[in-house]
Amino acid sequence: MERYRIPPDTTVRLADRSPSDRLTHDEGKKVGRQYLTELTLRLRDLQELLYAEGKHKVLMVLQATDTGGKDGVIRHVFRTVNPQGVKVASFKVPSSRERAHDYLWRVHKETPGSGEIRIFNRSHYEDVLVVRVRDLAPQEVWERRYHHINEFERLLADEGTTVLKFFLHISKEEQGARLQARLDDPDRHWKFSSADLAERAHWDAYQEAYDAMLSRTSTPWAPWYVIPSNSKWYRNLVIARILVGALEGLGMQYPEPDFDPATIRVD
Ligand code: ADP
Repeated sequence: MERYRIPPDTTVRLADRSPSDRLTHDEGKKVGRQYLTELTLRLRDLQELLYAEGKHKVLMVLQATDTGGKDGVIRHVFRTVNPQGVKVASFKVPSSRERAHDYLWRVHKETPGSGEIRIFNRSHYEDVLVVRVRDLAPQEVWERRYHHINEFERLLADEGTTVLKFFLHISKEEQGARLQARLDDPDRHWKFSSADLAERAHWDAYQEAYDAMLSRTSTPWAPWYVIPSNSKWYRNLVIARILVGALEGLGMQYPEPDFDPATIRVD
């Protein structure tokens, strides 16, 4: 899975990375799904341990092109975990109150506390993505944000947060097919928005903004993973595997009881 991690100071071109890559799981969907089930069960245990130990904080950032599958990842990868221990924060167009503050204000408030996993469905990266592509702030403003963001994430990491960032990479053809599927199925009309087509018209500018984000903000303390996401089961599998690996790497342990269970009798 490490091959999906962007080493620091790498110039990334999404165009050179296949969104359909699934080399390590040629066995296919059925085996992949079984493996995902095993991973989600492991994740359930690890999340409980994280909560019980109450020491580490985990932040998972999800960014993607529209229809990239952020919601699907949250639904499938976290399907077994205790909802009390995992919270999702979604970042939409900033409110007027949010706009009255610096762009990290609303984000910092949502970062995880000890024993928690937080999932960011979109994030502070919108401030170097949509803001850059749609010219919502001048270049001199968004240009310096890459530096702010790296230092902000360093602060989180220094204070005990494991930061994992996933970019869901799909092709333009796949996005076209997914948007069409939303139009074709009445039950999915609610998911369709003409704004998605407006964003799609800026496909190339977004790819450029993603390339810049991935090249400039993948750090040793908060790495980006570019996840091939044309195939949904493979996308979920890769993310679950990386997450389980990261949690296992924390070397967590259940806390020692401050009593001797052998000396206590429950009448
Ligand atoms: P999603 O597509 O994540 O399911 P929405 O359809 O509600 O959710 O989209 C949220 C919108 O908010 C996106 O178009 C996104 O670009 C926008 N947005 C998020 N953060 C910002 C920001 N800081 N500045 C401007 N727009 C933002």
